[in-house]
Amino acid sequence: MIRSIVFGLISLLITAAALAQAQAGKVEVTWLGQSAFRITTPTGKVIVTDPWLRTNPKTPPEFRKLENFGKIDLLLVSHGHADHIADAPALALMYDTPLRAPGDLNNALMTLGVLPARLLPRMNKGGTFELTPGIKVTAVRAEHSSIYIWHNPATDKDETHPGGEPFGWIIELENGFRIYFAGDTAVFGDMKPIGERYKPDLALLPIGGLTTMDPADAAWAAKELIKPKAVIPMHYGINPLAKGTAKEFVDAMGASPIKVIVAEPGQVLAF
Ligand SMILES: [Zn+2]
Repeated sequence: MIRSIVFGLISLLITAAALAQAQAGKVEVTWLGQSAFRITTPTGKVIVTDPWLRTNPKTPPEFRKLENFGKIDLLLVSHGHADHIADAPALALMYDTPLRAPGDLNNALMTLGVLPARLLPRMNKGGTFELTPGIKVTAVRAEHSSIYIWHNPATDKDETHPGGEPFGWIIELENGFRIYFAGDTAVFGDMKPIGERYKPDLALLPIGGLTTMDPADAAWAAKELIKPKAVIPMHYGINPLAKGTAKEFVDAMGASPIKVIVAEPGQVLAF
């Protein structure tokens, strides 16, 4: 009797420990529309990419309220276009989180007085930033452009400022899980060494076309160059001139062994 109770307790404890471990080991990825993602790491750090949220038609209402993030440990912006940087300065100030972006873009933000220098670390392609032991972010190439449009309050006019060179990001988490966030980009040959060097578990790829890869190009890049374990399409369904759809991407991926995940905005995907 006592023996069976003890065995029962032990098996309960083992189950609870296994469950806790499984929970702790999870990477959670939530698409917030366009190229905005919230990524929660296995130890609970919160990473946000390209936050265009408050006026993004695809962003779920709860994420349009910037205070609802609770905390942001790492804020990544790929380039200076408004649909990527829009709410980043406000989030950097709200959460006192440095804005990790192309160094020359950050320099423009500093001289314009958009953010204080302490929130504008410099970084460039090839550089790696370590948030905490185990969480490493490397800036890689993206084939795109970058400007920053700033509204000058003195003249009440918009001005165009240099936005540095656009980045993609390799995000490595505590458990070794690697995400390739491609930013806005065309297909380029160096996606192959990026895939070989970093072996991403998950690639987040733009598919809208016109200003980035279209579904056929993105599928070709995933299958022939990057070869991640899984891929989530992003940067589509908003600009009516960028017509790429998730269905076209899924069709173009065909019978590839790469897992294609079409995320719904707000849906929490666990890896
Ligand atoms: Zn862009």
